Amino acid sequence: MMGEGKSAWTPEQLATMARLRDAAMKDSYAFDRLRHLTDNIGPRLSGSPQAQQAVDYVAAEMRALGAKVTLEKAMVPHWVRGAESAEVVKWPGQTPETTQKIVLTALGPSVATPPEGITAEVVAVKDWKQLHALPADAVKGKILLFNHPFDKELAAEGNGLQAYVGGVIYRAAGASAGAALGAVAVLVRSVGGADFRLPHTGEMEYSPGVARIPAAAVTAEDADLLSDLVAQGPVALHLTLTPRALPDAESDNVIADWPGSEHPEQIVVVSGHLDSWDLGTGAIDDGAGVVVSMETIRLMSQLGIHPRRTIRIIAWMSEEEGSQGAAAYMADHGSDMANHVGAIESDLGADHPTGIYYAGKADLGSWLQPVAQVLGAIGGETLTAAPETGADIEGLTEKGVPSFAPIQDSRFYFNYHHTAADTLDKVNPGHLNENAAVNAVLAYALADSPEPAPR
Ligand SMILES: [Zn+2]
Repeated sequence: MMGEGKSAWTPEQLATMARLRDAAMKDSYAFDRLRHLTDNIGPRLSGSPQAQQAVDYVAAEMRALGAKVTLEKAMVPHWVRGAESAEVVKWPGQTPETTQKIVLTALGPSVATPPEGITAEVVAVKDWKQLHALPADAVKGKILLFNHPFDKELAAEGNGLQAYVGGVIYRAAGASAGAALGAVAVLVRSVGGADFRLPHTGEMEYSPGVARIPAAAVTAEDADLLSDLVAQGPVALHLTLTPRALPDAESDNVIADWPGSEHPEQIVVVSGHLDSWDLGTGAIDDGAGVVVSMETIRLMSQLGIHPRRTIRIIAWMSEEEGSQGAAAYMADHGSDMANHVGAIESDLGADHPTGIYYAGKADLGSWLQPVAQVLGAIGGETLTAAPETGADIEGLTEKGVPSFAPIQDSRFYFNYHHTAADTLDKVNPGHLNENAAVNAVLAYALADSPEPAPR
């Protein structure tokens, strides 16, 4: 690609990118903010007091750097986890008077069982095909288990996201599919690679017009245990889940602008989502994405860089429970997409970034070649076209805004994703800095090029 046409950036601008990259690699700003978000504030479930504390924290930190901060309202779900337990109470080969514990966690926004729980026979299937091959009444009154394995080989090859997408449909749609056939509850095998009997929570959706039944994720080990027993004979499970859906809560996206020196009305979005699931502390999903975005303004401030266009940091609210923050942004700014010249979201953890995903015109790849060269010094020179780049910026991508994401090493991300093990220790400070460097260099490139990125 090099040598085909001229670089969009001058040698001075490329030198500024190198300065941003090197400063990001030396800084502990992002990691220190991540420590506060995770260890001090803790889990940030949408609608929770911690999520709101995090909104105030990010806003104050951005103001302290001289950014222009606004909080933009979004109504978000406020679902609260309750008790969650299950025991196999009947199975082939059972020792009399014993039960076996099953490790699971409710999916959001699952409805509850009665407080004393329910007891029902278990039907296990691997996928839709097996479900639809069952006799008409096979699921009626039963607990339906989807035991669809996470493709660990695919993840180990570096395609974590593809492995995740391959299984997430059962988590999202399994409850209503089961309810339509008369199931009283649905269990799904956790969508993730954890090997230590850890359940992975996540979002599910109830289809309109179908009964809402309780839904939980069991660990991979427990899914296999149940399937093994079901293959041998009748298995009954006692299941207790007592989550509650409280009224929707008022929350905010945090918007922090570093105003452009020539075209302040033209905007480059740099973002991550501030809410998290509640089992861990949301370090890799997605505290990391928020702090590497914050770092972009930190570096602009520290190095005194004022690009032509505005760099807008967004800490999105409620990505995990339906992207209500992103929807509110599109409702408020959807008519101004011509002035949104680029959007970045980091939401695939904080491991080593090998480069940049881009969605939009095919020319974006060759246009970004000089930027990729700057990132080559930290092993981030790959440019890969992708259909989409992040859930919160999907609306912008659909409106034709060129969009981007760091390509994080995804081999390990889904071992911890949405589990109690999503904690600060999973983040390597050096890798976090590499992600901050990718964000800052790319944001500067988009905000200071003479012409906006091709679209
Ligand atoms: Zn996320």
